[in-house]
Amino acid sequence: MAGYLTSAAVKARLDTLATTYPALCKRSGPADWAAGWGGGLSGYVKVGASTAASPSPRWAVLITGGVHARELAPPDALMTFLEKMLAAYTASSAITYPAWTDPVSKIVYNSFTIPWPWVRRAVEYLDLYVVPLVNDDGRDFVLASGVPPADQQLHKMWRKNRRAAPSGLTDPKAVGVDINRNFDILWNFPLHYDTSLSDLAMHASTNPVDENYIGDVTSGSAESEPEVKNLANLMRSKQISYYLDVHLVGRDVLYPWGIESNQNATPAMNFTSASFDGKRDGISHAGYKEYIPKDMEAASAAAARHIADQILDKAGGSDPRGRARSTYKAIPSAQMYVASGTTADYCFSRWFAPVTGGAPTSPVMALVLEAGGDPKLGPAYNEGYFSPDYVKNYPKLEREVHVGAWTFLSMASATAFVQPVAP
Ligand SMILES: [Zn+2]
Repeated sequence: MAGYLTSAAVKARLDTLATTYPALCKRSGPADWAAGWGGGLSGYVKVGASTAASPSPRWAVLITGGVHARELAPPDALMTFLEKMLAAYTASSAITYPAWTDPVSKIVYNSFTIPWPWVRRAVEYLDLYVVPLVNDDGRDFVLASGVPPADQQLHKMWRKNRRAAPSGLTDPKAVGVDINRNFDILWNFPLHYDTSLSDLAMHASTNPVDENYIGDVTSGSAESEPEVKNLANLMRSKQISYYLDVHLVGRDVLYPWGIESNQNATPAMNFTSASFDGKRDGISHAGYKEYIPKDMEAASAAAARHIADQILDKAGGSDPRGRARSTYKAIPSAQMYVASGTTADYCFSRWFAPVTGGAPTSPVMALVLEAGGDPKLGPAYNEGYFSPDYVKNYPKLEREVHVGAWTFLSMASATAFVQPVAP
């Protein structure tokens, strides 16, 4: 897919940002970021400035992309997002995104502006960590050149990391673990869920050849993957309170939980309780639902809704056809599908004190932006599906990812810091 950045290119562009804006942008170091099994190591940057206006303490915010290898647009979009942010902050300037005409449909998507206060507050009020590309090795497998025709689909649709296949397995699909199923929240799902239910519809697998393979449940553990350890350590060590994970596709903004449907009435019915092991029953049954405080559910839903509204208002333009293709839904993650061990659920779960050894944590908001097309609406709405054409599809998606990220940061920077509390 010509145009998209390899892991080495992401690394080089992040290095350039840190050397161009040394006062605003710091690079991850070898001590806090490990390479993938294949050696990929683009890492992260921390963006932030301290001025008289800066609050203290301030929120730690994390934005990630490229967890899933084949989802090509988010890492590039987060790279240009950082570049625009740092250039605009240095120039004390708003950011005007020019109009863009879809070369296929001829739909014109209007110009829009991110106001200067959003730029200033993002840099001065927050400690912002951005990991444009979590899954370096997977990305490079997708973008590999010279692949024989028989293997091209395998490369193009690769989702996992590149951990070597378990011994004895020669199927090329047995390589890798799904990073977004390897976090420490109900990770070993056959233990935690009632897998005898035919309609459990769990989107996770213990079979290494599956694209949502969680890792080795016999002799392994959650956080077995270097990419997962990197992110989980960052969430813990930096006390991340606002998290946005950018994926393709679906045109959704997802809020917690992904592990189950939500309930507000029974705090004891939650993911930390072993007494519900084997009884968690997915969204088709009401025997088990996951506890989320009512006000946190409302705040998460409102934030997801606000991101969807801003994407439509700013990036969607005025042509009704364009607006139809820029309409995002705000839904609980489990409504897309039930999954254990996800990045966003783990980050959100850190707020629940029992998991973190009794140490209260500042409230956490963890959302997932599923950018791109909506395959359910037909081929005209696909926006290139997992592999958006860099010229025909990517520019539209880049605008949407940028508006989503700007809106998220604007909300975080407008919220007064709350000291750590137990839920
Ligand atoms: Zn994904």
